Amino acid sequence: MPIIAIDGPAASGKGTLARKLARHLDYAYLDTGALYRAVGLLVARAGGDADNEQDAVLAAQQLAEADLAKITSDPEMKSESTGGLASKVAAIPAVRALLLDFQHQFAASPPGGKAGAVLDGRDIGTVVCPEAEVKLFITASVETRAKRRFMEQYGEGGSDEQYLAILRDLIRRDERDTQRATAPLKAAKNAHLLDTTNSDIEAVFEMAVTLISDRMTIA
Ligand code: C5P
Repeated sequence: MPIIAIDGPAASGKGTLARKLARHLDYAYLDTGALYRAVGLLVARAGGDADNEQDAVLAAQQLAEADLAKITSDPEMKSESTGGLASKVAAIPAVRALLLDFQHQFAASPPGGKAGAVLDGRDIGTVVCPEAEVKLFITASVETRAKRRFMEQYGEGGSDEQYLAILRDLIRRDERDTQRATAPLKAAKNAHLLDTTNSDIEAVFEMAVTLISDRMTIA
């Protein structure tokens, strides 16, 4: 099954790019960060501790039976505090193992009978789909990423303190994601690096389409 693997840090633009590519290729799309966010949110809602293995594993097990559509439509899903909870549960190997199965199945037989899949996350090119046809690693400076999150959350009305809080959270999350022992955030050896600091999404999309069509003759 043709797979496009897209990895990168928070707010790098990888989600927007992945969705656009999936639409363009008519592939299925999986936002794997949403799985970790849902586990983090389930732990918090149960009054648990996201750093605690037992609490996090229980939530990951519950996710299989939970109404994923309901959880992912929760307005708290997209917040930076849920991102922080997600990166805590994501550092626990047993949680990753539980979520890996779902991701493998999605890649092996994309829902809706689609001819391929686009997955985005932190370890898609390295761990989940190391055999992916095309691997993209999307980056941007942490200040640019913090500014994007800040604008998404507060628009023009936000304060410097709110911006700095987001910047601090992103730095902490990058650190946790790159330093963890299991499936850390890193580019696969054969990934194409795309820096979105000074490029808009259209330019990055065009670059990605060119890379994909060079590799796959379908885009
Ligand atoms: O991409 P998003 O910001 O939604 O991801 C939330 C968190 O989930 C990340 O900071 C990371 O810790 C974790 N994650 C992961 N592996 C993935 C996707 C997300 O560890 N494949």
